[in-house]
Amino acid sequence: MLAIIFLERENIEIKMKDINTVIKTKEILNKFNIKANKKFGQNFLVSDSILNEIIDVADIKENELVIEIGPGLGNLSEYILLNSTYALLIEIDNNMINVLNDRLSRYNNFKLVNKDILKIDIDNYIEEIEKNRNISFKNVKVIANLPYYITTPILFKLLQESKRISEIVVMVQKEVAQRMVAKPKTKDYGILTLMVEYLTNAEIMIDVSRNCFIPAPNVDSAVIKLEKSDKYKVENEDVLFELIHKAFAQRRKKMVNSLVSNKFMNLDKEEIEKLLNKCKISTNARAEELNLCDFLNITKEIK
Ligand code: SAH
Repeated sequence: MLAIIFLERENIEIKMKDINTVIKTKEILNKFNIKANKKFGQNFLVSDSILNEIIDVADIKENELVIEIGPGLGNLSEYILLNSTYALLIEIDNNMINVLNDRLSRYNNFKLVNKDILKIDIDNYIEEIEKNRNISFKNVKVIANLPYYITTPILFKLLQESKRISEIVVMVQKEVAQRMVAKPKTKDYGILTLMVEYLTNAEIMIDVSRNCFIPAPNVDSAVIKLEKSDKYKVENEDVLFELIHKAFAQRRKKMVNSLVSNKFMNLDKEEIEKLLNKCKISTNARAEELNLCDFLNITKEIK
């Protein structure tokens, strides 16, 4: 009873059915005498209804490998392990490793790795698990409540480096989710939007209040689903990526000027204007007025 009163004051939006994970989280923090570590972006998701929704959205199939980045105290991990064939959990914080080994001791369908996600070769780990367990996974899915201070490097790593991961269901800061699915000519539209549109089919699936976490972060969150897709593939991908980055480097300028001053392909102003003319794009346009197809057309004109 005491716990419930305490909770109500602290976290008004948490519903009764969420009480299990809230209580468990507080118990674990007490038992191990630890606090959320800001340096590692630790905000523990304690809403059982959101945890259930994430599992629904992720739609885990048999013989799929689930990768969780930053399992923390294991709140999401338990839901994942109950619903999947096997999971790879990657956590940077030693303190969390002790908690996870204790909390997850009754499960035998996971491998816990104490490493920085940005410093490992994910596909190597997948291969190693397959070898050791003598299985080959049909599909590899990432499900995670990401550490927000490194959201974009993690996403680019998952999207660009791994050949095995085909789907990503992640909690991110709401603003970041909105940037991923933004439309041209809005302030949210930019490099992240275009990279995500080029590499995936993206959809915001769940809006999540800051009150669903302990401690509550200063921002609201959203769960976004990214399905990798080859629908736009160009051969000279590096040129496309350079073009997008340099076009938005000075987004208030005309794109031509941003490209020239950032030395895009070392082309001069005249050459860039010629390119744009060929693609029927105004030489006065700013980067945010172009859609992905415009960027793809420019890229294809550069042989
Ligand atoms: N999944 C848990 C915790 C989310 S908080 C929950 O939903 O409650 C983010 C987690 O990512 C923390 O556990 C943090 O320690 C971990 N983390 C932060 N940086 C990391 C990195 N570079 N590599 C792996 N894990 C990281």
